Order: sequence, then C-alpha cells, then structure tokens
Amino acid sequence: MGKGLTPYPFMHIFPQDEHEKLLIAKLAALGVSVERRTELVSFVEQPNAIMARLRGPDGKEQDCEASYLAGCDGARSKAREIIGTGFRGGTYRHVFYVADVEAKGAALDGELHIDLDQADFVAIFPLAGEGRGRLIGTVRDERADRAETLTFNDVSSHAIGQMKVTIGKVNWFSTYHVHHRVTDHFRKGRAFLVGDAAHIHSPAGGQGMNTGIGDAINLAWKLAAVVKNRAPAALLDSFEAERIGFARRLVASTDRVFTLATSQGGLAAFVRTHLVPFVFPVIFKFEAVRRFAFRTVSQTMINYRGSPLSRGTAGRVQGGDRLPWVMVEDGDNFTPLVTRDWQVHVYGAAKGELAADCEKHGLPLHVFGWRDEFAAAGLARDALYLVRPDSYVALADAAGSSTSLDRYFADLQIEPAARSGRAA
Ligand SMILES: Cc1cc2nc3c(=O)[nH]c(=O)nc-3n(C[C@H](O)[C@H](O)[C@H](O)COP(=O)(O)OP(=O)(O)OC[C@H]3O[C@@H](n4cnc5c(N)ncnc54)[C@H](O)[C@@H]3O)c2cc1C
Repeated sequence: MGKGLTPYPFMHIFPQDEHEKLLIAKLAALGVSVERRTELVSFVEQPNAIMARLRGPDGKEQDCEASYLAGCDGARSKAREIIGTGFRGGTYRHVFYVADVEAKGAALDGELHIDLDQADFVAIFPLAGEGRGRLIGTVRDERADRAETLTFNDVSSHAIGQMKVTIGKVNWFSTYHVHHRVTDHFRKGRAFLVGDAAHIHSPAGGQGMNTGIGDAINLAWKLAAVVKNRAPAALLDSFEAERIGFARRLVASTDRVFTLATSQGGLAAFVRTHLVPFVFPVIFKFEAVRRFAFRTVSQTMINYRGSPLSRGTAGRVQGGDRLPWVMVEDGDNFTPLVTRDWQVHVYGAAKGELAADCEKHGLPLHVFGWRDEFAAAGLARDALYLVRPDSYVALADAAGSSTSLDRYFADLQIEPAARSGRAA
C-alpha cells in the first residue's frame, strides 16, 4: 500500500508486549533501567525544578528532583490529575474484549478479518505462529453491565458464529471500557503529558501506542536540547503546538468510525453490510485511495506546517513536512537520519558558503547528486532542507542559501550541535 513512501510500505503487526520488551532492551543498552513498582505519589513545581514524591516497592517514599517531568502514566494519569488539565470526552457504553486464541478456520490465515454484520463488531488479527489469532470485539447488551465477570464463553458464540472459527485454546481473555478523551493541555510549566495520559480513543484503528510514541519522539529531542543548554525553554512550547491538533483529530475520527461500526438501525446496518463490503474493494483499486489509507494508518501524513519551528517552501516540501523518502540505486536519503542529529540535505549541488556555514554550526551536510526521483518526491534541485532530529523538515529554502540557515538558528536561539567549552 505504501510503495515509494517509506522503507516500510506494509502493515506489520508487532504485539505491544514484544514492543515494550524491545524498548526496554534498547534502554538497558543505553544504561537506563526501568524501576518497576515505583509510583509517582505527588509533585510540586519549584522555580527551577520539579520535586516529585515517589513510593518504592518497599512502600517507602522518597523525593526526587528533576528538571522536567514527562507524565507517561496512562489513561488514569496521576500527572494529569496533579496539573489539572482535565480529560474531556466520553466513555462508550460497549464493553470491549480481547482474547488471544489458538483456533482453526478460514479467518486464521494470517490476514486481518473484520465482521461488521452486527452492531457488535468482532475482528481477528493474526499473531505469530500457525493458528494463533487475537480476537477484539464489543458487546453492549446486558452483558456490558457485568464486564468484570464476563468470560470468553459469554462472548465467543458471536465470534465463532460470524467468523466460522473453531477455538482450540484461549490463552488470554480480558474486558475493558473504552473512552474517547483529550486533555486540554499537554504541558503545564515543567510537566508534560505524553501518550494515553494525554489522549485515548477506541483501539479499533490501532493508533494509540503509535501516537504516544510520536509524542515521545517529538518531546525527547526538545527536552535534550533544553537540558543541554542548546535551546531556550521556549522550544518546549512547540510540543503542544505540534501534537495536540493531531490528537484531537484522531480522537474525533476514531469516534466517528467506531460509532458507524457499532450503530444500530437500518441505515447504519445498510452502510456496514452493503456499502462498505462492496464499495471499499472498488475504491481500494485506486492507488490514490490506497496511499491515502496507508498514510493515515502509518501516521506518515502528520505534518507540523503550522508550527513555530517550521519555515519556508522548496518544491512541494514545506517546513514542517516529514522529509520525503527517496530510494535511488545506491541507497536512500533516510540513511543519514539514523544519527538523530540536526542535518542539512541538498539534492543537487550545495551553493556558495553553505558547506562552510554548516561546519560553523557543527551541522552534517548531506549532498545527494541530482536524480529525477528527487523531483518526483517533491524535492527541489539545489535547495536547502534543514532536517530536525525527528526527521521533519524545519526549514526549506529554494535558494539554498546559508543566510536562511543562520537566520533560523539565530531567531530560535538553537545551537544544533555542542560547541567546545559550552556546558552540556
Ligand atoms: C486491546 C487493545 C489493543 C490495542 N491495539 C493497539 C494497536 O494495535 N496499535 C496501537 O498503536 N495501539 C494500540 N492500543 C493502544 C495502546 O495499548 C495504548 O495507546 C498504549 O499502551 C499507551 O501507552 P502509554 O505508555 O501512554 O500508557 P500505558 O500503556 O497505560 O502505560 C502507563 C504506565 O504508567 C504506569 N503508571 C500509572 N500510574 C502511575 C504512577 N502514579 N506512577 C508510576 N507509574 C504509573 C502504569 O503502570 C503503566 O505501566 C491498544 C489498546 C488495547 C486496549
């Protein structure tokens, strides 16, 4: 679906527990350990720090002083409660269930299957290993009132009947209520909200964890720049400016889709059982539709064009856009991004003093010999693209002039790289 848009143009289902293990292993490799059963009890903001009270596994409390606090503490966030930014929205009447099963049937073929026949939907996601799948479904009749005591047997007849599967073993089953909410602010003073602490929605679109990781990436490089004294604290204002709009749109759009997928009544049933199964396969034959769907689900369509950090236009690429990915015979233009540094890209030839100016700022300059593929991706020949540590274009300058680079860093008071003698 996403051919030509990213090095990863496919849907890959990677269970969240494995994802967490991978991230924890990466952290360990960087010398950071996760302290389990350690709870944030309260915190207060002081003029230059956050003073947080933590309760450890032995029940003892201790104070922890930090420059900033990132509340990544989920839907019932203590951090959000303390900063008092609210969590407006609602809770669905339905109870959701999730079950990891070993089963047989046509729907266990390694593909995603969704049954929209009834107002209570059920989906089967493939899991690694033959005959293993994850069932996600909803119930809303009188069973929804006893969510805590529901068992797989209470919900399985619908799934088995609709999807025609034979369940061999249920490895895991749980139920939960789903909310659609966004906090009013992602930041108050030195405290930030990230992930489900800031926004939650129906899991049907598979977007929650990905959005939280997007928040974390956006905040991480900014915090690093500020604590290393390479940018003023004002840089942190751009976190909410760049992320809250997407969170609001995501929660509103998943709410609309979920409401349509589960509405009772003739019109909703007609749309689900007639329009969706017949119209979708037809419109998905169009490449533009497939690409739009891919860009939406992969979140590669997110841009920060309205951000205070975004400047200029060159070709079809504007400041705030995700750098377009281009593959040519001898490699792709994403390879240098692995360093997660500020960097300058030029497609064609670097003009005038640009190389010397990049050196002055400690910026790597990557010059890619001009190819038609770059034009096809919307990049302009000999233009300058200043790329942020999170791979978004900060500045696009069609003239390719180093003056725009100097002006950008002077205006925002950002030092893109450490200079000798400067505190880190
Ligand atoms: C069935 C289901 C399927 C889903 N499928 C997908 C999917 O396919 N793709 C996707 O992107 N998303 C999916 N999601 C959403 C995803 O699970 C969440 O968006 C994600 O877990 C949010 O991560 P988080 O770190 O913000 O919060 P959480 O995962 O809730 O983590 C918060 C952590 O903070 C800890 N904590 C809470 N309070 C405190 C405190 N006071 N002190 C210290 N620690 C505290 C908690 O113990 C927890 O470890 C799904 C969700 C469900 C329920």
